[in-house]
Amino acid sequence: MIKIVGKDALETWVDEVIARMRTYGVQAKGDHFSFESLRRAADLRLDYDVTILPPKKYLQPPRETLLRFSGAVEYESVFDEDPFVIFGIHPYDLEAILQMDAIFEKDQRDEHYLRRRSKAVLVACDVETVSENVFAGCMGTAYLESGFDILITKIDGGDYVVDIQTDAGRSIADSLKSAKDANKKALAARREVWNKNKARLRRHKLEVPLEELPALLEAGYEHPIWEERAQRCYSCGSCNLVCPTCYCFDVRDDVGWDLKHGVRARVWDGCLLAGFAEVAGGHNFRRNRADRYRHRYYRKGKYLPEMIGKTACVGCGRCITACTAKIANPVEVYNALLEEKDDH
Ligand code: SF4
Ligand code: SF4
Repeated sequence: MIKIVGKDALETWVDEVIARMRTYGVQAKGDHFSFESLRRAADLRLDYDVTILPPKKYLQPPRETLLRFSGAVEYESVFDEDPFVIFGIHPYDLEAILQMDAIFEKDQRDEHYLRRRSKAVLVACDVETVSENVFAGCMGTAYLESGFDILITKIDGGDYVVDIQTDAGRSIADSLKSAKDANKKALAARREVWNKNKARLRRHKLEVPLEELPALLEAGYEHPIWEERAQRCYSCGSCNLVCPTCYCFDVRDDVGWDLKHGVRARVWDGCLLAGFAEVAGGHNFRRNRADRYRHRYYRKGKYLPEMIGKTACVGCGRCITACTAKIANPVEVYNALLEEKDDH
């Protein structure tokens, strides 16, 4: 069902959801925006440009207990299965979540991620304010017509089109059922928002067709750009930590004072960090900064597309903003590889 509501009705509905279940939503944080626990609808900012961290932090938390153990053989797995809702996910961040779903479902199913994910209700919203470095328009993620439970779009005139597509969405949308159905005019206005966003969300212009990225990278493995740019890299890992499609983690055992009880937890990791590829015995598969720097672009533009059929950069632009050395812009790197190719 697709409804049309005014701002007051939208807020009434959001407050009802907050009263029922664990709710997160985008809120102002100083000059920036952040996904936080939402206590009242009036705090929800659907007009934000981009959040500091993507909403993946609720689906794959920065630190997550996997199991508790006592002694050598007794353990109990820990799962988070409390339902929750996230309000205000931009289409590019939604696409990143859909990619994480595909990755965690593939081959060795990740039950910790998947059980939590099955309890999440994702309420997306179309972009109202263009952020400083977004290029989702080049990555096919400026808008999505499916993949969400509910999508909210502010249309010309100030009303909101609310598209409720799944059972999970319907389960939290009781009070919207009596709202007016969106008519043809409202749907055309939504289409206009989508078309505009496809054109607007291009602060950087990717010259490479997405389907050609894997071959371009294949040919550019020895390109000097990796060494040149990596010389300025601090190996801080900020580009990894803010990225909605980075999901790598490290697993650690925290053992109690009695040396019997403890927990096994996973924490976010990042391929730009010096110790990322270090294994037992101190061997490091990517000791050189340039190898780590290059690996990230191959991961996004070649390895993951070959695995899940999608480019694993959704064009949010967060890495560009987060990198103090100003070397993390994927568009600059991919365009530079293309220039070199065209020169030959
Ligand atoms: S690589 Fe950069 S622009 Fe692409 S999804 Fe990650 S943070 Fe966003
Ligand atoms: S944010 Fe920039 S400096 Fe830091 S690891 Fe990434 S590329 Fe290197």
